[in-house]
Amino acid sequence: MNYYGNPITKLIEELAQLPGVGKKTAQRLAFHIIQMPKDQAKSLADSIISAKENIKYCSVCCTLTDTDPCPICSNEKRDKDIIMVVEDPRDMAAYEKTKNYKGLYHILHGAISPMLGIGPSDLKIKELLERVQKNSIEEVILATNPNIEGEATAMYIGKLLKPLGMKVTRIANGVPVGGDLEYVDEVTLSRALEGRREL
Ligand SMILES: [Zn+2]
Repeated sequence: MNYYGNPITKLIEELAQLPGVGKKTAQRLAFHIIQMPKDQAKSLADSIISAKENIKYCSVCCTLTDTDPCPICSNEKRDKDIIMVVEDPRDMAAYEKTKNYKGLYHILHGAISPMLGIGPSDLKIKELLERVQKNSIEEVILATNPNIEGEATAMYIGKLLKPLGMKVTRIANGVPVGGDLEYVDEVTLSRALEGRREL
């Protein structure tokens, strides 16, 4: 029901569409925004538009970035012979926090999930294949999440990569099964990386 006038009802509706934001939270956020100083509200709105307009996929690793190539792909100190394949830019951030990995990444933007209707062509797999064929890559580490979708995705990509001749590894079971890499602590992630095994 439209108790508060159209603009605020619209704001509540928009906020309620965000992941993890229910109707009540959306109302609370909307009232908070209304009570903000105008400058602050404008800065919030501008940052949403700026992120949307200026963030793109890195043409090398497909992460989200405002510079192309992204800072990791253009860093001369990174080991260009190793690519770690992850589902999400947040997984890349989790590995970066460990400071134990010096190679490059490839971001799939999801995992194969027949339940959600996500197939290989919805992910950045074609880009990965083109990339490993264009460059001499020694090892590809499959670091998708240790759940059903992540395992299926690792198996699928592993089968495509193996005939191309590079070493293909999967992160170890140090990561809890069914877990989400983004929330795993740095020590566990480092161990999972060190204990990776060849497919
Ligand atoms: Zn990149």
